[in-house]
Amino acid sequence: MIQLTKLNKPQVLVDNELNWTKTIMEYVNKGEKILDSHKNKYSHKDVKTQVKLETNEKCVYCESKVTHQYPGDIEHIIPKAVYPRLTVNWSNLTFSCYWCNNHKRNYVGKKEEKLINPFIDDIPKHLHFFGPLIIHINGSKRGEITWKKIELNRQELIDRRIEKIKELQNLIDKYEREDVLALKQILLNEIKEFSDFKNEFSYACNCYLNDKGI
Ligand SMILES: [Zn+2]
Repeated sequence: MIQLTKLNKPQVLVDNELNWTKTIMEYVNKGEKILDSHKNKYSHKDVKTQVKLETNEKCVYCESKVTHQYPGDIEHIIPKAVYPRLTVNWSNLTFSCYWCNNHKRNYVGKKEEKLINPFIDDIPKHLHFFGPLIIHINGSKRGEITWKKIELNRQELIDRRIEKIKELQNLIDKYEREDVLALKQILLNEIKEFSDFKNEFSYACNCYLNDKGI
């Protein structure tokens, strides 16, 4: 999980968010089942394009690149089943992988038990990577709930983070051995690139580099 910036609301939501929410709430208030054609308005292609852009097609929680192997879709940060009012609310929509979404299910905690929201919360206050393991900062109950609830230390994630860290360390070793200044600078840029939000497991790499003083 890495800090992200919410992009502008897509035009289709600028134009329709209020009306679509109103329709959904009419069903809710009447105690009727919301028709799929109304409930699924959020999955408009322009919304999907924008959430994929803001996360660079990575899961907002585990930072896996969403692929055929790691399928993903539009994610409701606060579950629509619990808060139907937020079904098409732009600030509640993002992108996640199937597994994180599945582990999270319909969890909504009270104020001090909420999951960390990468668009709002200051992640380093709550979560840190020790090598391939994500652990909460001492005392952060929200951090602890987040990694445990979403199961962010799933074995396949740990394995893939180890590979990424090995790749990063190889580059650091190359950097240490290099004595041509211009090449050293190029290698340093390549190393720093690992912690760019666009790359897989960037927060794990960011913590690794910080802990090494790079
Ligand atoms: Zn995920």
